[in-house]
Amino acid sequence: MTTSESTAEAVDDNLPAPQIIPRGQHPITNNEIDADALMVLRRLRQAGFTVYLVGGGVRDIFLGKAPKDFDISTSARPAQVRKVFRNSRIIGRRFRLVQVFFNGGKIIEVATFRRRSEYEITGDDVVLPANNSFGTPVEDAFRRDLTINALFYEIEGSTVIDFIGGVDDLKNRIVRLIGDPDRRITRDPVRMMRVIRHAARADFEVEAETWQAILRNRDKLLLCPVSRIRDELLKDLRGGACRSWAELAVESGIFYTIFPFYSHILTEHENAAANKSRLSAILNVIDRLIKTAQKLPDGLLISLLLVPWAEAELDMQNTRTQKESYLLSRNIRERLAEMFSNLNIKRAMQDDVARSLATLPLLLKHDNGKDWPKWLQKKSYFKSGMHLFQIIKEVNGGPIADDLPFLAPAIVDQPKKAGRPPGRRGPSHGGRGTAYAINTKGGVFGFRQN
Ligand code: ATP
Ligand code: MG
Repeated sequence: MTTSESTAEAVDDNLPAPQIIPRGQHPITNNEIDADALMVLRRLRQAGFTVYLVGGGVRDIFLGKAPKDFDISTSARPAQVRKVFRNSRIIGRRFRLVQVFFNGGKIIEVATFRRRSEYEITGDDVVLPANNSFGTPVEDAFRRDLTINALFYEIEGSTVIDFIGGVDDLKNRIVRLIGDPDRRITRDPVRMMRVIRHAARADFEVEAETWQAILRNRDKLLLCPVSRIRDELLKDLRGGACRSWAELAVESGIFYTIFPFYSHILTEHENAAANKSRLSAILNVIDRLIKTAQKLPDGLLISLLLVPWAEAELDMQNTRTQKESYLLSRNIRERLAEMFSNLNIKRAMQDDVARSLATLPLLLKHDNGKDWPKWLQKKSYFKSGMHLFQIIKEVNGGPIADDLPFLAPAIVDQPKKAGRPPGRRGPSHGGRGTAYAINTKGGVFGFRQN
């Protein structure tokens, strides 16, 4: 048994001493940290607590990227953190966190060192006794998902603290689950999606044991609450690396666990290879749009993901008239209800997706590069179908689908946590009209809450 296996399960065993990487021998300095996050770190330190920048923030700065959020872990208990920051509140049931509020709706989350991940607790939704869950820094490192996500950075000496070999894995470009991979996946199967995400995003290799464990356990993903699979999936689609994400997801089989209706189309179908390339080409354009700071509504992302399926399974080619388009839309709607039963996608979004997909062949047929038939322009679905059409046209070798009208701020994710450090932001976009908008009623992003 390796050190990490034993420690992941029995946190009281002899835990390893960390590797301390001093200032200058790693790429992180306080300058890369968001000013508000730095203030939180300083104030907790001044109050006498141990406190670190943790998780994806450390990983991303190490890799020279702008972190999406800055998570902080500390020895201070939630009530103690709350006392240091008047403008804060405690949230969470199983594991309590403190959210510290800043101007502009920015939130920095501060967690107390934990011995176990919230996802490893089985049983009913009970509130844990507070001191049953808290732990030491080393325990906190071992309860995390990947070695590269388990590094700590402390601001006083600017040192990186590595209990698990995360720095070596970052340098060697390896994604590795912490501990025994089968056991850690069984405890929380969503970790398989996290492995694939980070390998795709950073263009890292998945370590062999981790990869084999994913192949053995991929169907366990379906044991997870649908909401978690859906949230992780949306992060992947919106993350700017969805093409390489899909390649790894297909290779590992996780793609077919999530989208079983693709398994025939991408494997045994007579045009399997062409279908795969079509999917890759579409995902490539999604990545390009996202990298130019464009936000694509979730309904559009799903429609795009389904185009190769619709082209392979349905008579898109011969849909020319309004009537045929209507019948196609009805057919798609019926199939979506079943196909998405395990992703819990709201009916309204399914209808939207069905209509956009069924309108696509009409738009492709009537496209003369100049104007559109009046009857088509008058249709309620004309505007929403246009987004899908413009992107597919680019995929088909047409003009670049930039500056689409769905860039309005209304559809941008609600900022929850601290964003990038100042001066590293991407271009912002002014308010233009959109045919898509987040429907907050009954669920976020048009998905049902469960
Ligand atoms: P991103 O750039 O997408 O935010 P991240 O690694 O920061 O990547 P988060 O979802 O913000 O991802 O999670 C923050 C940290 O919490 C991770 O870096 C990891 O250490 C830990 N973590 C998240 N999910 C899990 C999980 N399922 N099991 C164990 N640890 C997890
Ligand atoms: Mg994060």
